[in-house]
Amino acid sequence: MNDQLHKEERVCLNCGTPITGRVDKRFCSIRCKNEWNNSMSGPEKRRRNSVFNILIKNYHVLEMAMESGERAPELTVLAAAGFREEYVTGFRRIRRGRDEYRCFDICYNKTEARLYNIRRAPEMA
Ligand SMILES: [Zn+2]
Repeated sequence: MNDQLHKEERVCLNCGTPITGRVDKRFCSIRCKNEWNNSMSGPEKRRRNSVFNILIKNYHVLEMAMESGERAPELTVLAAAGFREEYVTGFRRIRRGRDEYRCFDICYNKTEARLYNIRRAPEMA
C-alpha cells in the first residue's frame, strides 16, 4: 500500500480524534466504533426514523394541499390529514408574519390558522 495514504489526516468518525495506523481505520477505539454502530441502529435510529416519518407525512400532506389548489389551507384541516406543524426541516426568519418554513423542497408561510404560499423551493425546482 502507498505510504502517502498512511500519512493522510484522518479523524475518528465518532469523536473526531485524529487517527493513525491503517488507512482503512475509521475509529480511534473499539468503544468509538461500538458507539457509532449503536447510533446507526437500535433506539437512536428508531427515534430518528420516527421523526423522519413525521416529516415524510408532512411532505405528503403539503403535496396534497398544493395539488388541491386550495390557496390557504387551514391548519386544522391539514392536522386532520396528519400534518404536524412543529416538525420542519427549515425555517427562515423574514419578518413577522412572513417567516418561511420548509419541508424538504417545499416552502410555505404560516399564520396562526393557515398555511399559505405553499410552493416548491425555486432553487430546487
Ligand atoms: Zn473516537
